[in-house]
Amino acid sequence: MSDLLLKNIRPLGTDATDVLIRNGVIAEIGRIGAADGVAVEDGGNAILWPGLIDAHTHLDKTTWGMDWHENDREAVLRSRIDFERENRIAIGIDPHRQSMRHAIGLAAHGASHIRSHVDIDPTHGLRLVEGVQETREKLRGIIDIEIVAFPQSGVMVMPGTFELLDKALASGCEVLGGIDPCGIDRDPKGQLDALFALAVKHGVGIDIHLHEPGELGAFTMELIFERVRANGMQGKFAISHAFALGMNDHLRVGRLIDEIAELDIAILTTGAPSATVPSVKRLREAGIRVGAGCDGIRDTWGPWGQPDMIDRATVIGMRNGFRSDTDLRLALELVSQGGADAMQLEGYGVGLGCKADFTLLDGQTVAHAVVNRAPRPLVVKGGRVVARGGTCIVEMP
Ligand SMILES: [Zn+2]
Repeated sequence: MSDLLLKNIRPLGTDATDVLIRNGVIAEIGRIGAADGVAVEDGGNAILWPGLIDAHTHLDKTTWGMDWHENDREAVLRSRIDFERENRIAIGIDPHRQSMRHAIGLAAHGASHIRSHVDIDPTHGLRLVEGVQETREKLRGIIDIEIVAFPQSGVMVMPGTFELLDKALASGCEVLGGIDPCGIDRDPKGQLDALFALAVKHGVGIDIHLHEPGELGAFTMELIFERVRANGMQGKFAISHAFALGMNDHLRVGRLIDEIAELDIAILTTGAPSATVPSVKRLREAGIRVGAGCDGIRDTWGPWGQPDMIDRATVIGMRNGFRSDTDLRLALELVSQGGADAMQLEGYGVGLGCKADFTLLDGQTVAHAVVNRAPRPLVVKGGRVVARGGTCIVEMP
C-alpha cells in the first residue's frame, strides 16, 4: 500500500497541519516535508473529518438512476411493505446494480461505512442479500458495508422467513434485523423470542426497526429490555427509529431512556420529519450511543433522500431544532462518530494510529461545512483516494 502525505488540512476544524498516512493508518500529524515515494495531496485548508457513516439504510431498495418511479399510493406501512415485495423485481430494482449506485453515491459524498438492512422474505429468499453481498465484494477498499438480515414483511406472519434469516446469518450477514413485533407481526413475544434465539445461536447483535408509536412502542421496548437482560445482550442491541421515544410524556420517555442507557442499547435515528422522533440531545446526555442513517432513498416507499450523510445531518438538525454552531457540529458527529459508536467500529477517528478513512469538508468552520453541503474535495479510504470533488473513482453502473 502506498503512503500518502496530505498537506494543509484542519483536523476536526482546528489549525491547519499535515497528515502522513502509512499502511492505511494515520502515522504522523504536524508539519511534514515531502519524502521520496510518498504521494502528496494539498488539502487546500479544508476540514479533515473522519469518514461519514450511514448506520441505517437500505441498499437493496433505491430506484436511483432509474426512470422516475410514479407513486400515488396510500402511505400505509403495511401496504408499502406489500407493494414493494410484490413489485420490486418487475419494476426493475436489481439489488446488485441498485446497491452499487447507492453505495457509490455515499462514498462519493465522504462515507466510509454503511450498515444496510436488506429484505429477506419467502418471495425473494436470499436473492436481495446476495445482490448486496456482490456489491460489498466489488466495493471492498472503497466503502465498508455491514449487512443486517431484515425480515421487513414480518417473521411470524410470513412462514419460512425464520429459516431464511437463519441461512442469511450463516452466509455472512453480520447483524439480525426485526420489525414492529406488535404492529407487523401482531405477536411481540413470538417475534422477539425467535429473534433472540437466532442471535444467540449465531453470536450476532440485533438491530430492530421500531416504528411503533407511543405506548405500543414503549411496551415493545420493555419486552426487549427483559430479553436483552435475560440473554446477556447488553451492548449488542440497537433500536432503529424508536419513534416511541418521541412521544409527549416526558416521565415515561425518561424511564425508557434510563433503561436503554443501562443496557447499552444503541439508537439509530433518521430524523423522520413525518413521525415522532427521539431527541438526540436527550439520548446523548443519558450516555446512549446514537447513530444516524439515510434510511431508504428514492424508493417505492417515498421520493425523498440523497446518498449523502451531510444531507441527512441537515434533516436531523432541522427536526431536532438545531440552530447554533455547537448543534450543527453535533449533527455532523451523529453521522460520523455516532455511527461508529453504534456500529462499534475499531480504529475510527482522525488521531494518530486511526485508520485512514476520512473526508475533507469545504467550509470556514465545521458548522459552515454542514450547511454548505459542498462537494467533498477528497475522500480517503484505507489511505487511498477514493473520491474527488464529489466523484467516486468507481463509476456507477
Ligand atoms: Zn429502515
